Amino acid sequence: MSIFLVDEYKEMEPYVPGEQPKDKLYIKLNANETSLPPSPKVFEAISKSEIWNMSYYADPHCHEFRKAVASVYGVTEEEVFVGNGADEVLSFVLMSFFRRGMKIYFPDITYGFYRTYAKTYGLDMEEIPVKDDFSIDINDYMDLEGDIIFANPNNPTGRAIPIDDIEKLVKKNPERMVIVDEAYADYWGETCLPLATKYPNLVVVRTFSKSRNMAGTHIGFAIASKEIIADMNSIKFSFNPFNLNSVTMAAGIAAVKDTYYLDKCINRIVTNREQFKSDLENLGFHVIPSKANFVFCYHDTISSSELCEKLKEEGILTRHFADAKLDKYLRITIGTEQEMAVVLIAIKEILAEVKV
Ligand code: PMP
Repeated sequence: MSIFLVDEYKEMEPYVPGEQPKDKLYIKLNANETSLPPSPKVFEAISKSEIWNMSYYADPHCHEFRKAVASVYGVTEEEVFVGNGADEVLSFVLMSFFRRGMKIYFPDITYGFYRTYAKTYGLDMEEIPVKDDFSIDINDYMDLEGDIIFANPNNPTGRAIPIDDIEKLVKKNPERMVIVDEAYADYWGETCLPLATKYPNLVVVRTFSKSRNMAGTHIGFAIASKEIIADMNSIKFSFNPFNLNSVTMAAGIAAVKDTYYLDKCINRIVTNREQFKSDLENLGFHVIPSKANFVFCYHDTISSSELCEKLKEEGILTRHFADAKLDKYLRITIGTEQEMAVVLIAIKEILAEVKV
């Protein structure tokens, strides 16, 4: 740490993303991305004219992109905020609406970035324990004094909170903001999006990094009331007006309109998830039922940290969290049929070695 870092950032706990090693070709199932390509429409959209466009600043209001998102999700442009990944969108939400000294609540097992944001912005946080089966009881959140953030479905467990429960919470607490991070909701098929423009205290955040196979472009968006989106845009214009570049927006517009391709990719990953879950169970794994594009599992005969290491030796990256509450489990992202077949063979071989 340099002598120049200001006191308020000394307590920061930077987020540690899943590793992206380049030393050899891996089957990459550690960061809930996919090896499926973006929509064919994206390949067409990134033409030479997009390269010529690089000479000029992109539209800081992101009008065309916001309009495209709005028309696909049945809202108005004023109800859409777009940003550099769900991470940046979440960061703007916390910057805009959460005050120092105010409490922010989230489950004790969830996306690690919420803790990072809370530390970065000096927010007073409280983590509410999930149930033994990793489910979340909405009643634990009904009478708190502060704002709430959920990943729904949750990462790394894949568990989801019923939409009706979230609506009850939002309705009962009009003075408190509820943020629902729906990074994985496409793999579940249920969503709070229709509620986001109905309740002024609800913000729904989405990403192109998962179901649209575009983590590298890092696009996220939020849908909420016009007033909330206007506030977020004011923050953005006070921070970095050009948070999305022109090439990324051209790709985003093409991708968001291609709902046929999106549905095809989602169906494929969900089918592979259910198949992989049952294959793991046949090998004796305990698997949490997942609504996302990953499974959270463990086997009694090998620790998950050892399994993670051995899979890496075989060229397969998975994610193990050293945290005491998660240590027993391994998170495996769902890839293509071929990738999952290779993983299964590797796991069988590792288990056979352990038994000897
Ligand atoms: N929310 C959740 C719950 C996630 O798991 C992730 C990615 N790991 C993100 C947000 C980040 O999405 P993005 O790539 O759009 O920043």
